[in-house]
Amino acid sequence: MTQAPSSSHGSLDILPLADRLRWMLAVRIGVLTLPLLAWVVTRSNAPSTVGSVWVPAVSGVVVLTTGLVLSQMSALGRRWAVVALTVPALLDAVHLGLAMYLAGGLDGPVVYVVVLHVLAVSLLGSFRSGLRIALWHSLVVMCVLEGVATGLLPAQPGIAGFDEVGFGIFLVVVWVTAVTTAGLGAVNERELRRRRYDEAALRRLSAALHEADTGAKVAEALLDFAVDAADAPIAAVQYHLPDGGGRPSVDLAVRMHADRAAETLRPGGTPEPGTLLHLAQERGSTVLATMTAADPWVDEVLEGAARVVVVPFALEGQGSGTLSFADDARSGSRIEQRRVGVAEQAVAHAATAFARVALLEHLQQSALTDGLTGVANRRAFDDALEREVANAVRADSALAVVIIDLDHFKSLNDSFGHQAGDDVLRAVGAALRSCVRRGDVVARYGGEEFALVLPGASVDDAVEVADRVRAALREIDGPRAVTASLGIASRATAGDTGTALLTAADAALYSAKDGGRDQARLAGTDGPVTAVVARYTAAQVPVPRSERIAVR
Ligand code: GH3
Ligand code: MG
Ligand code: MG
Repeated sequence: MTQAPSSSHGSLDILPLADRLRWMLAVRIGVLTLPLLAWVVTRSNAPSTVGSVWVPAVSGVVVLTTGLVLSQMSALGRRWAVVALTVPALLDAVHLGLAMYLAGGLDGPVVYVVVLHVLAVSLLGSFRSGLRIALWHSLVVMCVLEGVATGLLPAQPGIAGFDEVGFGIFLVVVWVTAVTTAGLGAVNERELRRRRYDEAALRRLSAALHEADTGAKVAEALLDFAVDAADAPIAAVQYHLPDGGGRPSVDLAVRMHADRAAETLRPGGTPEPGTLLHLAQERGSTVLATMTAADPWVDEVLEGAARVVVVPFALEGQGSGTLSFADDARSGSRIEQRRVGVAEQAVAHAATAFARVALLEHLQQSALTDGLTGVANRRAFDDALEREVANAVRADSALAVVIIDLDHFKSLNDSFGHQAGDDVLRAVGAALRSCVRRGDVVARYGGEEFALVLPGASVDDAVEVADRVRAALREIDGPRAVTASLGIASRATAGDTGTALLTAADAALYSAKDGGRDQARLAGTDGPVTAVVARYTAAQVPVPRSERIAVR
């Protein structure tokens, strides 16, 4: 997961190699022409004993041509490109050594060109190429001086032997230039590379946030960023949205280790006062803490991290949350500051995504919820019925549908007003929810008609639910007693499609209305059913053989 920025990573090169080569060519042209100029100037002062203008000119042309050929070969691959960057620089040093020999030695003007050359190569190449060129220049000049001192090379004006003091000064100037330029360049380059890396990580975060359509996915994208760009060994995100605007409260807690996938934790709700998360949210700004006392979040979720960074965020007035991570950088160091900085940027991005996703989830939920009663609407019911029938058929499991129509509801409206009717409908919605188990669907089918989908419910179970419903409706504290007629259909008898179940339940409902209302009827049987009666009537309908024997 964590990926250190590397210089071999092409896209992270600060100055692309092709640009470096172009600059190097410009340097090389300077290296060719400046010593020529120097040679002409010094020659007019004191004519040299050997050579003519042709010597440095031919040497310069050779250097330049080699550079050009190598730069063409750099297209063959990175290895050749590196050769094209280093070899000509070394040839330059030889050429400059020759020019210096011909144009005034260590006191001549070519020394300045040498220093310029060291500067340029240190800037354009790596720290190592800066040191390499300084070493090479030192060796070349030493060879020239030694050559003259031993009589291998004829003495020239300004260069009659081994000038130790001059060579010492030359070494100091060349090496100080190389080390400082390459050193400063390397520091800047590392910083720039790190920034590029952070920018790339932020771009990846933005793309991941754009894709995320749930709070958990947003949290995962943020945690990915925290362990990657902020180098956190362990990080966690939590948020709490209080209920409001018809939406229930939302809680989320997700954790990630640097080398593992994200894991969703049991959410803890709003952070308790006195805890680190609470402190950060209270302040509304990042907290960097060295842990000295126990803290439930740090101890449990961040596995007792010694130093913790908590970045809080607010969800556009809806709620709040935090990104927290273990921090192993030295307190107050540049690394720590950078980590905190990038984490804050990431959290700002993620907070917007959290708010968007919360709104989206709320809208999706609203599109499937009945506004008056809060139970599922007709659309959600149709989807749920289709899904549950398919599941039941696949698993060959039981399934029942119950349709509930309130009795004489029109007269309730007429006598007590529409508002009172609405209040009763709301109370019926709540009563129905209290009668079913998890996984069952309660829906408003239309007007004053409700429907239940009961996955896994046998005929007996469905009749028991119908009993509970009738009892719960009787408990409603309305302007008058609320009763309903119920039609029950089971997969075992009515068929294997949603339509067949609904048609059968509807028929049972109408026979309940015809039979005097305030009762439940089971499709395919006569007369009202209650839990006790159902045990006998169930025997009349075709059920699997083993069960039939059990009923007898
Ligand atoms: P029964 O089912 O027992 O035959 O009689 P009913 O009076 O309940 O039958 P009907 O289906 O004719 O009446 C349904 C009534 O429900 C009509 C309408 O005024 C009322 N109703 C439907 N939707 C709403 C609603 O959203 N709010 C209120 N207050 N009443 C509604
Ligand atoms: Mg009706
Ligand atoms: Mg009715």
